[in-house]
Amino acid sequence: MKKIKIGTIGNSLVGKTTICRNYLGEKFSTEDLMTVGLDKFIKELEILIGEKTIKTNLLIYDTAGHEKYESIVFNFIKKCDGILLVYAVNSEESFNDISKWINKIREFQHNKDFPIVLIGNKIDLENERVINKEQGEEEAKKHEFAFYETSAKTGENVKEAFQNLIDLVIQYKKDELLNDNRIDDNVTIDGLEKRIDDVIDPKPDECCSSKCSVF
Ligand code: GDP
Ligand code: MG
Repeated sequence: MKKIKIGTIGNSLVGKTTICRNYLGEKFSTEDLMTVGLDKFIKELEILIGEKTIKTNLLIYDTAGHEKYESIVFNFIKKCDGILLVYAVNSEESFNDISKWINKIREFQHNKDFPIVLIGNKIDLENERVINKEQGEEEAKKHEFAFYETSAKTGENVKEAFQNLIDLVIQYKKDELLNDNRIDDNVTIDGLEKRIDDVIDPKPDECCSSKCSVF
């Protein structure tokens, strides 16, 4: 089955994991959601290109911003088809770091049409807000990104933001989605080529040992 790979990027605790879970229909929870390196969510998705309906797997890679896992995160940027770039409206630092994340994305994705949607999350925390909507809009406009303010708690605008990114990816990858099955699931970590699925779900003997090159 064809794949559409999208991912989340942004500072820790802005709500990346919660946004993914809300999109996938899970209830809001404040339990520990700590993402280690990369988490993968899969959802079957039928897309329409012209008059053709294509069954795809939507893969959502949810990253943790921890520096230790940078090589995984940046390999993943290389391989994915679109990115949700997230800050929280109650965190000035997360907003200021947006440009740092954009630079990282641009290092690996040179095409200016690479799909990116900017998200200002946690708008339910209105009384804690330090970044107003206009600031988010201005940042998005500067880089020609689509922009949404969301709440992963109430679900406001979460579906819309994902749908916008998916639509952009369909445009961006139209030929590829219409034509061939691509086999590009490898990533390079410490000079070793690995299947991305093995990186995300390491086999027990490859993980947590001194030989392990991933964790
Ligand atoms: P991540 O590190 O970016 O993946 O952030 P998480 O998804 O783990 O969320 C960090 C914390 O913020 C958790 O306690 C979440 O419950 C909370 N959180 C995430 N999104 C929202 C939101 O939209 N509103 C509120 N009030 N809390 C949120
Ligand atoms: Mg997370």
